[in-house]
Amino acid sequence: MAISRSAVRLDGKKMSDFATLSGERPIVVLAPHPGDETLGCGMLLAAAFAGRGARIVALSRGANPDRPCASATQSLVSRRSAEVVEAVRALGGRSSDIERWNFPLGHVPMRGPVYERAVDWIEALCVSSGARCLYASGLENAHVDHLATATIARGVAQRQPALRVLHYTLWPSPRADVEGTSTAQTKTFRFAAEQWRKPKRRAVRCHRSQLAELEIDPQGTKLREVMMHSLMEGEERFVEHHR
Ligand SMILES: [Zn+2]
Repeated sequence: MAISRSAVRLDGKKMSDFATLSGERPIVVLAPHPGDETLGCGMLLAAAFAGRGARIVALSRGANPDRPCASATQSLVSRRSAEVVEAVRALGGRSSDIERWNFPLGHVPMRGPVYERAVDWIEALCVSSGARCLYASGLENAHVDHLATATIARGVAQRQPALRVLHYTLWPSPRADVEGTSTAQTKTFRFAAEQWRKPKRRAVRCHRSQLAELEIDPQGTKLREVMMHSLMEGEERFVEHHR
């Protein structure tokens, strides 16, 4: 399928074209937890899989088998892993496009020898795949695994100055308009295209175990409505820090 290179508009805002966001090479996406890749970059990944391709590194397994009810959690780990594969297929990718590292929840490394090995490995992946753009969760995100993932991406970029790092955002925020503004230190890119929205919708629905958790939460129904609307009908937003 041909990739539309023309910029499109959503709610009057100019969208970035895919060529700008990929450098016309494969992209690499780091996902701290199962589903982050779909929620933050689903349309971008669908465009990539229809073109030069994408590699996804899933850093943590998204549930903690060391906690009480370990067997139930272990089955949740398996389900989430299967859901990621299903979602990536819905986006046009293959199981072999995903690298799973299975760090326990909350234990994506931010320093030390394991962190250094993670940086080595992702640097090698970016070089071997010819990627010019590395996508990672945002530095400002409160979750420790998201911060660690952003830190790993920065570590790779320090060694590969030509590699661009773009941080994706996941949740709708009251500060969304502020966060979506370029500053002296950052440039914000927006991406949305109708042809990639359908595969993203299908991929989000593959993450059934996470959607079910939102249903159980008393606040969940409302949150789910807000979140799903933003995910399905909104834009994807990527922030690049000037270096
Ligand atoms: Zn996450």
